[in-house]
Amino acid sequence: MDIRQIGIIGAGTMGNGIAQAFAICGFDVTMTDISAAAVQRGLKAVDGSLERLVKKEKLTAEAKAAALGHIKTATDVNAVRGSDLIIEAATENLDLKLKIFAQLAELAGDTAILATNTSSISITRLAAATKLADRVIGMHFFNPVAVMQLVELIRGLQTSDATYAAVAAVAKKIGKTPVQVKNSPGFVVNRMLCPMINEAIFAFAEGLASVEEIDNAMKLGANHPIGPLALCDLIGLDVELAVMNVLFEGFKDPKYRPAPLLVEMVEAGYLGRKAGRGFFNYAK
Ligand code: NAD
Repeated sequence: MDIRQIGIIGAGTMGNGIAQAFAICGFDVTMTDISAAAVQRGLKAVDGSLERLVKKEKLTAEAKAAALGHIKTATDVNAVRGSDLIIEAATENLDLKLKIFAQLAELAGDTAILATNTSSISITRLAAATKLADRVIGMHFFNPVAVMQLVELIRGLQTSDATYAAVAAVAKKIGKTPVQVKNSPGFVVNRMLCPMINEAIFAFAEGLASVEEIDNAMKLGANHPIGPLALCDLIGLDVELAVMNVLFEGFKDPKYRPAPLLVEMVEAGYLGRKAGRGFFNYAK
């Protein structure tokens, strides 16, 4: 199947990044969210990100305008009807995603593929909530989408070879490198990355070292481009907590228990960059 028209559910950090990645390569994108304000924030983020590329002379002003011209927005999920590939990038919550997938299954038609950008939720379970389970797949982009090369393509038990092949082909068309992964809690990257971040939070909470020292230690000692606590701020503390909970419940292994400080910071609304405050302070 040749994928041309893309629907995106959720205009947050990942949704707007995915919209930009497709639009810049000439795909028509419809990006939806639950409110006009959320959609506008998403569009503004794309505009800002493209403008930075123009300033760095990596993109012409014409190409920026063309990319923006490829993005339509809506607050009604029905607007993605007619898309060849619908990518769900809404808040990481099982009940919400089950509800969205049931809605998408109703409007998907006979050929559309339904993908989810979930960081951790079972693709098999989401697929089972639809009548087109063979056309459901995990398409897990990394943050920031414009920069990160990898897309994990997660096959649920029901995902067909044709679905996998079509999504792998379109991922390559937008310059990403797909890696095929079986469905399992956290897939490959988050299964290793999120426990490492969680451990950094335990270390900080125990007073082992300061936020800056922990991050510097991992940058200089493990050659990581960004420290684990700054990375947690970038990912979003709520997303990190949701992934740890999925790992903990999925494997029933205490090694995946979320750090109590992570839970408390999420309760406080210190969600990282998007909230202006996480382990670091981003308030201007
Ligand atoms: P976010 O909080 O930045 O954005 C989520 C968006 O979904 C919000 O704008 C919210 O209004 C919207 N939303 C909620 N319910 C909706 C609905 N019913 N219909 C349409 N939109 C709805 O979150 P995010 O970081 O962009 O994460 C989105 C998904 O991507 C999650 O599944 C997350 O696990 C995954 N993910 C996140 C990262 C990351 O680093 N943040 C990386 C890879 C994958």
